[in-house]
Amino acid sequence: MNAEIIAAGSELLTAERVDTNSLYLTAELNNLGVEVTAKAVIGDDRDRLAEAVRAALSRSAIVILSGGLGPTEDDVTREAVALALDRKLVFHPEIAAQIEARFARMKRKMVEVNRRQAFVIEGADVLPNDRGTAPGQWVEESGVVILLPGPPHELKAMFERQCLPRLRRLVPDHSIRTLLLRVTGMPESDLDQLISPVYKKYLNPVTTILAGNGDIQVHLRARCASVGEAEALLAEVGAPIEALLGDKIYSRNGDPLEVVVGEMLHKAHATVAVAESLTGGMLGERFTTVPGSSRYFLGGFLTYSNAMKVELLGVDPQLLAHFGAVSSETAEAMAAGARRLTKATYALAVTGVAGPESGEDAAPVGTVYVALADPEKTVAVHRQFLGDRTRIRMFTTQMALDVLRRRLMGRAG
Ligand code: ATP
Repeated sequence: MNAEIIAAGSELLTAERVDTNSLYLTAELNNLGVEVTAKAVIGDDRDRLAEAVRAALSRSAIVILSGGLGPTEDDVTREAVALALDRKLVFHPEIAAQIEARFARMKRKMVEVNRRQAFVIEGADVLPNDRGTAPGQWVEESGVVILLPGPPHELKAMFERQCLPRLRRLVPDHSIRTLLLRVTGMPESDLDQLISPVYKKYLNPVTTILAGNGDIQVHLRARCASVGEAEALLAEVGAPIEALLGDKIYSRNGDPLEVVVGEMLHKAHATVAVAESLTGGMLGERFTTVPGSSRYFLGGFLTYSNAMKVELLGVDPQLLAHFGAVSSETAEAMAAGARRLTKATYALAVTGVAGPESGEDAAPVGTVYVALADPEKTVAVHRQFLGDRTRIRMFTTQMALDVLRRRLMGRAG
C-alpha cells in the first residue's frame, strides 16, 4: 500500500522553515509497511493544494496533509480538500463550542475567525486535537485523506492516538525486516555498479543507498506476510551483496565507524593516540564522541604548523624541509612521534591539503596522507580526494579510522 504526504504552508517554501512533519510521518508509515511514494510542499493556495490532493489520490491509497488548518485566511487545507473531493464544508456547532471553551480556559475570548476551524468536510470523521484548537479530519474516498495540524507536537499526538489505530485496521498485515550494511573505502558509484546486478532483480526487498563523506549505507527493506519470510528474503538477497562487498562492510547494525573501531580496540586491549594537521582535531572528536572511549583513546596532538610538528611530536626539521609537511615521510614521523610520546599501542597521524588554496608545499588540494604507527612498523597511505574543505577533512577522518580498522582486522586474523 502506498501513501503520499502533502505539507501545506508558504513558510515551508522559504529558506527559514523545514518540513519535518513528513519525516516523522514517513517513519511511522514505513513501520506500518506503507511505502511513501511522493511528498510535496505546497504554498497557501487553495487551487494548487486541491490539484495536489486530486493527483495524489489518483495514485495512492493514503494521502496525508499537514498544516493549514488554522483560523486565518491563508489556512486553506479544509477548502482545498473539499474542492478536490467535490464535497461541501459543514459547520459543526459542537466544535465551535469546544474551541470557545478552550479559549475560555485560557481566559481569552474566541475571535470570530476561529469559527472557520469548526467547518468539516462532508462525511469526514473529526479527529479531536487535545494540544491545539484545529481538529484534524479523516475522509474516506477512493482512498483515505487525512488532514492534520501543522505544529509538530499537535500532529504527532493526533497521528499516534487517532490515526495509527485506524491505519492498522486498513493496512494489510505485514512484517518488515531491514538489513543495514555500512560500507567505507569505495566510491558510491563503484558500489552501486558492483551490487546493482543483485538488488535490481528484486522489487522486494527495496534497496536504498545513502552516501556521504566517505560513508555508504546500504538499506534492504523486506516486506512479507511473516517475520520468517522477511528474514529469509533478506538472507537470500543480502548474502550475495555481502560477499561482493567483503571487508569494505564495517558494520551490520548501524554503528558508525568510530564505534566499530572503538570496540575493536577495546577487545584487543589496545590504545590509540592521534596527531592531526589538516583535520584540526576532528579525528580526536570522532573517537571521543563514543561513550567509554577513555578506555582506549589516550589523546592527541593538534600540530597545524611545522614548528608544532617539530616541537610537540619531535618531527625532524630537516625531514620536514626536505619532503614538506604534506608527505608520507612527515605523516610517518608524526605518527611515530605520537606513539612514542603517549605509549599508545597505535598512533594515527593525518596531514594534507584541505584547500581551497594549495599551500606552499605545492601538493594539490585534496592530497592526504594518513600514517599508522604500531608496535612493529609505521606505514603511510596516500589518497587524493575531491571536493571542498569540509568534505576533504571529513573524508580524511573516515580514511584514518578505516586504516586502523583494517590493521585491527589483520591482528584479529
Ligand atoms: P494552527 O492552528 O497552529 O495555525 P495549522 O494546521 O494551521 O495550525 P500551520 O499554520 O500550517 O498549522 O503551521 C503552524 C506551525 O507549525 C508553523 O509555523 C510551523 O512552525 C509548524 N509547521 C507547519 N507545517 C510543518 C511541517 N510540515 N513541518 C514542521 N513544522 C511545521
